[in-house]
Amino acid sequence: MVAVLKPNATDAQIKNLTEWLEGRGLKVHISKGESYTILGLIGDTSKIDEDLIAGLETVDSVKRVSEPFKSVNRKFHPGDSVINITETLKIGGGHFQIMAGPCSVESPGQILEIAKSVKASGASVLRGGAFKPRTSPYDFQGLRADGIELLLEAKRQTGMPIVTEIMNANHLDMFENVDIIQVGARNMQNFELLKELGKLNKPILLKRGLANTLQELLMSAEYIMAGGNRDIILCERGIRTFETYTRNTLDLSAVPMLKELTHLPVVIDPSHACGLARLVPPMAMAAVAAGAHGLIIEVHNDPVNAMCDGGQSLTPEQFGEVAEKVRKIRGVIS
Ligand code: PEP
Ligand code: MN
Repeated sequence: MVAVLKPNATDAQIKNLTEWLEGRGLKVHISKGESYTILGLIGDTSKIDEDLIAGLETVDSVKRVSEPFKSVNRKFHPGDSVINITETLKIGGGHFQIMAGPCSVESPGQILEIAKSVKASGASVLRGGAFKPRTSPYDFQGLRADGIELLLEAKRQTGMPIVTEIMNANHLDMFENVDIIQVGARNMQNFELLKELGKLNKPILLKRGLANTLQELLMSAEYIMAGGNRDIILCERGIRTFETYTRNTLDLSAVPMLKELTHLPVVIDPSHACGLARLVPPMAMAAVAAGAHGLIIEVHNDPVNAMCDGGQSLTPEQFGEVAEKVRKIRGVIS
């Protein structure tokens, strides 16, 4: 971190500030120019409040030169993290997986039929929401505990691992046999929830918030990793912009940027990003071409009558076509 001092900073003020910073465990390198003095702060600045220093009377501006995230930082872990979803199924590095299924679990027949069809087309993980974060309290809130039971039954019958969203750490007992716990976009900065997930030994699918930067996403992953759980899959699912034709704007550059910054796997959710089923196939292919380690796609056997997100859900047949195209693109780029 570098602090540029105001031109009128006196020697006494510089000395006071230097001692104050040293008291916080940092070494301070002072560089005096014609009119500006620059302090180079050396050491672990991750715990230093940048805004606090910027607000000091003698300080003109502050700039971080190293990232505030450590455990998820590729600098300290150059190789890609490969995460075991099950004993035999991996994601990250050279391992690519497609997660597919309905937005919400609706009935035993619905989840089982979709599970069987997406499995047959090449999906390796079944998705399905049991606890649904809906904007309106009057909308379908999910089958909750019953939804988890139906997912577990589909898992038993198809052998597919399952991913489903948690909204409250008090529900953790219900997630014992869930293979990947999803943290939805709206909970990306629910830090108490992230701390609880950090204590688990289970993969977490962490979705980027609607209006969060990549650095904030990585800091949320850092919360989970700081608790000891290193199995985190990052998910870009579109961010809110001024564009209104699509539900969100898919930030595809997040894939190569995150891969540069972190060793964690990155997956793309083109369904929530676009909000329109017809845009899902091209964006899924683009995500694969950009280097994503996986996709999470909403699929429904009767999209028009879906309880949630029918307009962005592919039919099983459409999903099969996308999965085939994705396989071809992977063949070309690998
Ligand atoms: C979902 O996956 O169904 C979901 C609610 O996603 P997001 O948190 O990205 O909106
Ligand atoms: Mn959805």
